[in-house]
Amino acid sequence: MSASQIPPATAVPGDDVPTLLVKIFGKDRPGITAGLFDTLAAYSVDVVDIEQVVTRGRITLCALVTAPSPAEGSTGTAEGDLRATVHSWAESMSLQAEIISGRGDNRPRGTGRSHVTVLGHPLTAETTAAIAAAITATGGNIDRIFRLAKYPVTAVEFAVSGAQTASLRSVLAPEAAQLGVDIAVVAAGLQRRAQRLVVMDVDSTLIQDEVIELFAAHAGCEAEVAEVTAAAMRGELDFEQSLHARVELLGGLDASVVEAVRKEVRLTPGARTLVRTLKRLGYQVGVVSGGFTQVTDALQEELGLDFASANTLEIIDGKLTGRVTGEIVDRAGKARLLRSFAQQAGVPLAQTVAIGDGANDLDMLNTAGLGVAFNAKPVVREAAHTAVNVPFLDTVLYLLGITREEVEAAETHVG
Ligand SMILES: [Mg+2]
Repeated sequence: MSASQIPPATAVPGDDVPTLLVKIFGKDRPGITAGLFDTLAAYSVDVVDIEQVVTRGRITLCALVTAPSPAEGSTGTAEGDLRATVHSWAESMSLQAEIISGRGDNRPRGTGRSHVTVLGHPLTAETTAAIAAAITATGGNIDRIFRLAKYPVTAVEFAVSGAQTASLRSVLAPEAAQLGVDIAVVAAGLQRRAQRLVVMDVDSTLIQDEVIELFAAHAGCEAEVAEVTAAAMRGELDFEQSLHARVELLGGLDASVVEAVRKEVRLTPGARTLVRTLKRLGYQVGVVSGGFTQVTDALQEELGLDFASANTLEIIDGKLTGRVTGEIVDRAGKARLLRSFAQQAGVPLAQTVAIGDGANDLDMLNTAGLGVAFNAKPVVREAAHTAVNVPFLDTVLYLLGITREEVEAAETHVG
């Protein structure tokens, strides 16, 4: 068929065209969808919209179809016949049917589309009511709701239209803190599905430890180092000064300690799942750390990370000198590295995700399209786009709209 022969596409019905909303509800089993549309096919109606969900074995199937035209020489109304036929089919299947007459397509959705993801542990009815009310208060309409995951948290996604992403964020962030759940608001649209880059902090984010404290334990200066680290992470100390002060305490340590520390590092629960799933979905993944390349290089190899950058402990004649070499990775450095990784990955900054827990992650979190504060200090949690306060790194996947089923599919995929 040449282009000129292609018949004009059937237009979405105008507001004046009669349409019927056919809703079926009942126990799900094979053949219901085929059965309904077989029944409707006898009336030559067009499908305008379909939505179907199955919840605990119960199907809700909604079909919006054009109203049937009266048959030639028919005495009764075509719509009346259709109603009677659908009801008798539903009865034969022990299903409930409802048919509502109206005109045109669905009401157009408001401008401004967002996805609001809620992580609850558990997710209570009270919390759900509060979130729905908060969304309504912004002028937003909840178009769809579905569950992304039931493990290790209950993750539910609301598709919202009619409100700006930024205003939803500003209303829902304090609500989340008060309700004790995690809520992420991201703009809907193509960029959500586009290939992205995820960049993580290492200490207390990708791993459970603070690497410098592991070194300090070998040097017998744990307490001194921990105190400087805590002050730096609270934002009370300049990171670079604190780094030099702490590394100095490690001067004279035997270089064999590096291997011992690598073995002591414990990944955060869900870290492997997060990285594996992102990689299988075609994301690029990197780490930036105020810690040390002596550890991040090993993590990069173990996890197959695309990018890794950190400070390097100077080792001369088999001993740590108490100095670092090269450009310091500090708060500004982390944001700079995110930009640089994004450029190398060919991913616009708006499509990047940064995850971190400390004050030195803040610039990076705010530079990324989505900044996730992971079990973070309050100063970080309050400044980030969104926060995860459950100790499972793979829950970040749900904030990206990735379902548990997809996570498990990536897990069992061979190759
Ligand atoms: Mg950290």
